[in-house]
Amino acid sequence: MVYSSRVLAFILALCISVITTLFLTLFETVNATVLMVTFVISFSVSYILSFALLELLIFREINKIYKLMDKLKKKELHGLSKQKPNTLNPLEKINEEIFSFAELKQKEIDELRKLEAFRKEFIADISHELKTPIFAAQGFVHTLLDGAVNDKAVRGKFLKKAARSLDGLDALVQDLLTLSHIETRQIKMHFETVDLHELTQEVLEQLEDKAEERKITLTLHGSKNKPLVDADWQRITQVMTNLVSNAIKHSSEGGEVSVSFDIGKKNITTHVRDHGEGIAEEHLARIFERFYRVDKSRSREKGGTGLGLAIVKHILEHHSSKPEVESVVGKGSTFSFKLQRAKDGEDQ
Ligand code: ADP
Repeated sequence: MVYSSRVLAFILALCISVITTLFLTLFETVNATVLMVTFVISFSVSYILSFALLELLIFREINKIYKLMDKLKKKELHGLSKQKPNTLNPLEKINEEIFSFAELKQKEIDELRKLEAFRKEFIADISHELKTPIFAAQGFVHTLLDGAVNDKAVRGKFLKKAARSLDGLDALVQDLLTLSHIETRQIKMHFETVDLHELTQEVLEQLEDKAEERKITLTLHGSKNKPLVDADWQRITQVMTNLVSNAIKHSSEGGEVSVSFDIGKKNITTHVRDHGEGIAEEHLARIFERFYRVDKSRSREKGGTGLGLAIVKHILEHHSSKPEVESVVGKGSTFSFKLQRAKDGEDQ
């Protein structure tokens, strides 16, 4: 850089001294010696001044770069403001490049930190969730081994309880695998034209026994047009299954769970409505988070893994949609989601 500022100063000084000397030749009284002295003096003075000025400018810019590097070392990038773009000054350009590169790296670091925090929290949650059914099953089996196995009445009861805990563990592992596959995008969505009415009918048939156990009526409201959407049949079946089985679980005995469709111009909205216990306002924003439950022990009692709604949210994300919920404590809840209408269903 010093080398280039010397060359630049030399060229500038040469130009200035040549112009000055040429200007003096216009005067007839000026002889060759005066011209020569003028050339030497003007060249020397302008060389020194230009060199000093250039060095000063370069020094200022390099100082700025050092300051930036210093802030980067101290990880104070968040407080820095972006440099002016499109500058012609090469040093400012370097400054700008360093800033953009550091900004990019800082974003990557922030993202990695977030992922790391998420991973730690996820492992802590999973360990906690796995511990509960394992400890329960372990307790029943050890009690049996410690002598309860000889008591016929207790034996059957404890084995049933251990089996229920292991079934819960199996459901949890299944849900975890599903969630992990969806999150890591290992599951590809197979979009096709799906008749939501037909899909819901199949889901309700599957859940009929569960509803009957609690004397709950399942109602599917028909619509004039077929509710045809662009979706992955298998995944939306899972969404519907999770929502309807939640509605059954949280309804009071003898209640009703209904599914209906609102056919709009571009989208179809599905509503799953129950008249059960409802969800208090403060929980509504959090129920789609993994392992979030309004009442932990009651959820486990009812066979819940705490992942049902997180799976619903992730599947709908892959359909560029999101679940919504309206609920009144003691009156019931309505879960809704929108899906894009299928092209061949739009003009029906
Ligand atoms: P779980 O396996 O516990 O049902 P979910 O993710 O499916 O987990 O639901 C999260 C929580 O949201 C549940 O524990 C429950 O407290 C609440 N919830 C979900 N659906 C309903 C509903 N239809 N009525 C009342 N509460 C519900």
